[in-house]
Amino acid sequence: MKALVYHGPGKKSFEDHAKPEITAPSDAIVKVSKTTICGTDLHILKGDVATCQPGRILGHEGVGVIEQVGPAVTAFKPGDHVLISCISSCGKCAYCRKRMYSHCTTGGWILGNKIDGTQAEYVRIPYADTSLYPIPEGMDEEALVMLSDILPTGFECGVLNGKVEPGSTVAIVGSGPIGLAALLTAQFYAPAKIIMIDLDDKRLAIAKKFGATSCINSVKRDAVEAVMELTGGAGVDTAIEAVGFPATFELCQKLVAPGGTIANIGVHGKQAPLHLELLWDKNITITTRLVDTVSTPMLLNVLKSKKIDAKLLITHHFKLDRIMDAYETFAHAGNSGALKVIIEA
Ligand SMILES: [Zn+2]
Ligand SMILES: [Zn+2]
Repeated sequence: MKALVYHGPGKKSFEDHAKPEITAPSDAIVKVSKTTICGTDLHILKGDVATCQPGRILGHEGVGVIEQVGPAVTAFKPGDHVLISCISSCGKCAYCRKRMYSHCTTGGWILGNKIDGTQAEYVRIPYADTSLYPIPEGMDEEALVMLSDILPTGFECGVLNGKVEPGSTVAIVGSGPIGLAALLTAQFYAPAKIIMIDLDDKRLAIAKKFGATSCINSVKRDAVEAVMELTGGAGVDTAIEAVGFPATFELCQKLVAPGGTIANIGVHGKQAPLHLELLWDKNITITTRLVDTVSTPMLLNVLKSKKIDAKLLITHHFKLDRIMDAYETFAHAGNSGALKVIIEA
């Protein structure tokens, strides 16, 4: 089969690769129909993710059809149309019993990291019963690819951890796919204000379409000043960090109101300063999380009922044999305007 393989920092190739085989009774082999590229894949290619070793097939998002199941798989059979979760969950360890699947002792985020991933014609999914979701009849495959990772990530790490409430004020720093996923799902709770902050007017224009009440280009305007103006000098109840830079985490610390919450989503590769000298008396909460995908069944129902349109996040389409071009487009989002790219196997 064909697959996109990581060969160490800065190196990847689209090449022939052995087809995966069932190695444990709870495995399934899925024929991938659609996948995508994540910001995390770019982190791996920079060499930021030490657990991902050269030779690994990348990708942790996608939908497909089950080709084969191991003898212990009872919830799925060959031919079933499935959504692949970015998090593999054994369902049995202490973390899984706490619904903290991201820390599953033998699973978690392993796809396209510690084991071969979805940017290929076929992928082996461990713990298939608890790591795959059945796709209801007639649902749009492309929208569902947004459910493998970015929608649950924006919702769980940003909106749930950020305790977004009706009538509250929210600032989201970063208007990329994850920030936009947080913007879409924050609206479940009807906050009074959702302020998007980014450096790119194109991305902010999309945020406006997605329901942002205000957009701030922090190159053109001091973001702190602008947010204080919009909130009567108080700051926001929820500041969501959706970039992963020290500066954006520091910005959230300046935006949060007394009693508020900073919810970090960004993947931080560097130490980020925490200004306790300014925050020690502000009654704030700071949360961190790797997505657990516990909200996936709920989000599946939301998409099914068309309460949100996840396809709005998709800007480009490529066939699998043009995945190298897809990476170029995705990596240069400033020029290409790319949000999520769909790759069709
Ligand atoms: Zn991802
Ligand atoms: Zn587990």
